[in-house]
Amino acid sequence: MTNRAAVLHAPGDVRVEERPMPSPGAREVVVEVTAVGVCGSDVHYYEHGRIGDHVVRAPMILGHESAGNVVEVGSEVSRHAVGDRVTLEPGVPCGRCVQCRAGRYNLCPDVVFFATPPVDGAFANFVAIHEDFAFALPDGMSDEVGALMEPLSVGIWACRKAGVSAGDRVLVTGAGPIGLLAAQVALAFGATEVSVSDVNEHRLGVAAATGATRTLGPDDDPGEVDALIECSGHPAAVAAGIAAAITLACSDGVFGSSTPTTTTHGTSIPASCGRRFMAAMAPQQQYSSPPSAPTWGSHMSIVLPRDPKNTTGGASSGPTVRTASFIRPQSEGVSRRLSLKPR
Ligand SMILES: [Zn+2]
Ligand SMILES: [Zn+2]
Repeated sequence: MTNRAAVLHAPGDVRVEERPMPSPGAREVVVEVTAVGVCGSDVHYYEHGRIGDHVVRAPMILGHESAGNVVEVGSEVSRHAVGDRVTLEPGVPCGRCVQCRAGRYNLCPDVVFFATPPVDGAFANFVAIHEDFAFALPDGMSDEVGALMEPLSVGIWACRKAGVSAGDRVLVTGAGPIGLLAAQVALAFGATEVSVSDVNEHRLGVAAATGATRTLGPDDDPGEVDALIECSGHPAAVAAGIAAAITLACSDGVFGSSTPTTTTHGTSIPASCGRRFMAAMAPQQQYSSPPSAPTWGSHMSIVLPRDPKNTTGGASSGPTVRTASFIRPQSEGVSRRLSLKPR
């Protein structure tokens, strides 16, 4: 077998090269990659060769939103078998540091994260990863959707941090992929009004098509909201979002000043505004979905209905999906059976 990979050598310079086949460590699985998303971080590395302090100094394989099939397992692997379809959580922490032991393994300073220099990513035929960071995919979920579990985790984490729940009015600023996913998670969490703002008409159209109850241009007043999820990176959007949420939050005794003042994209968020201001891309949340294990466990339950009467798929007898329009029920039969291991 050959392992071809798309390797970034310099900004704008990606070459397809052969790389050695990965061999699994004792608790690793080798996955044949079948779908990979393109993250904003991949675009930054491709265009600029860096994101802040993360600088590509040697040729590196991009891509960290991936799914595929297990083709080989290490000697001590117990959670997966050859043939399993899996989605990959792309950051493997050390498991020993203070943050890992406190359950905040997303903050592990020694995390090994796909496509973050100098670690190679998933734009390759094969990758190896610790078995605990591969998650079995249900039959009703395509490989492409499986690859989107990683960015979905950002939306899940943002909505959890913002305390989104039934009846909430949520404002999502920014209708890029992360904002669109966060908006759909907010709906899945029970929000009744989900407004999405952006400057791009096309993106607003996608937001409307994927469930946003209202779309807002740059000059539209968002009114009053219960929670703000900032996904634009634009200071003006942050300021407008805070204005929309500030009156309510500051007059609501639930939201005190326990949250320290944070700064996101140059805009200060007053401490008194409490926890419902959530910047999906704020530094501490930047990478994935802490604590990832419970977050990743939420993916399937959010995307897949429990009630078989809700399924709308075609030939597949497996579960199909509801919330997100990008996650459409598969209409064709499913060729591989899921092998979910008992935990
Ligand atoms: Zn990403
Ligand atoms: Zn650690």
